[in-house]
Amino acid sequence: METNDRDSRHKARMIRKKAVIDEKIEQAKVEKGVLLILTGNGKGKSSSAFGMVARSLGHGMRVGVAQFIKGRSDTGEEAFFREHPLVSWHVLGEGFTWNTQDRQRDTDTAMRGWEIVAGMLQDPAIHLVVLDELTYTFKYGYLDEQMVLDAIANRPPMQHVVITGRGASEALRNAADTVSELMDVKHAWRAGIKAQAGIDL
Ligand code: ATP
Ligand code: MG
Repeated sequence: METNDRDSRHKARMIRKKAVIDEKIEQAKVEKGVLLILTGNGKGKSSSAFGMVARSLGHGMRVGVAQFIKGRSDTGEEAFFREHPLVSWHVLGEGFTWNTQDRQRDTDTAMRGWEIVAGMLQDPAIHLVVLDELTYTFKYGYLDEQMVLDAIANRPPMQHVVITGRGASEALRNAADTVSELMDVKHAWRAGIKAQAGIDL
């Protein structure tokens, strides 16, 4: 019978696959804080980072979130997570660069914000640090990238860091353990669909 044949081929294939995966699981033994970069032009960078915030909180971990370029104050993630006792939530930007239009002022804001982040990156009680839209602070020269990379390199060994934002540099990608480049295949916005609560904010 053709179905039987297909079923047994499937089973044989899954047995081989399981052996390969078990071997990989066996080899992955290192426990350490990881640095993740979520970059690219597609949607899903910040929302993925907040997915990891939810996961971490589910494990009773402490989380610090810093939002560098803050476009709006009415997001669902802020309303939801800010109230959580294990979350410290910091809005460190005054808005999109095309709204503030003032580089010196944005630099001062980013530098004040950096003091808070530098503290989190020295605090082993914070298990996950999310630096949302951080890449733009390098692009516009608000923060020195090497200073940030040094602080990340010297963070507590078990602390995870997630950085989001378009255009992550080579240096940032090299420093990271995991890098995802979100590709923009299509976006509802270009078809004239407004940002939707629960999806975009
Ligand atoms: P999200 O927060 O939805 O995961 P993101 O962090 O990947 O998005 P940002 O550049 O921070 O992307 O996006 C800010 C806002 O712009 C969000 O409302 C997001 O849904 C929307 N957006 C993301 N990617 C695109 C795109 N390619 N075109 C238009 N709008 C986008
Ligand atoms: Mg984002």
